[in-house]
Amino acid sequence: MSAICEACDKPHGGLFIAGCRGCGIRSLARGPLFFAAAQAGKLTREYRRALLALGSDAAAVHAEVKAQAEALAAGRAST
Ligand SMILES: [Zn+2]
Repeated sequence: MSAICEACDKPHGGLFIAGCRGCGIRSLARGPLFFAAAQAGKLTREYRRALLALGSDAAAVHAEVKAQAEALAAGRAST
């Protein structure tokens, strides 16, 4: 359970609050580590480390990041 912070309320605002899990997921989704992992087709070592900072199951956190990246892309396309 996580409260929506001010930055999460405006996901396209480019704002990230340190310590907010939602912001961490979103920052990864827009970051170079996620991009590199997508290009490589696997979880790179650095990306996996970043995922594990947000949860104990890297694959599960990656699924969240991927969903967030798709939501952000969809949001940009529709506005
Ligand atoms: Zn947040």
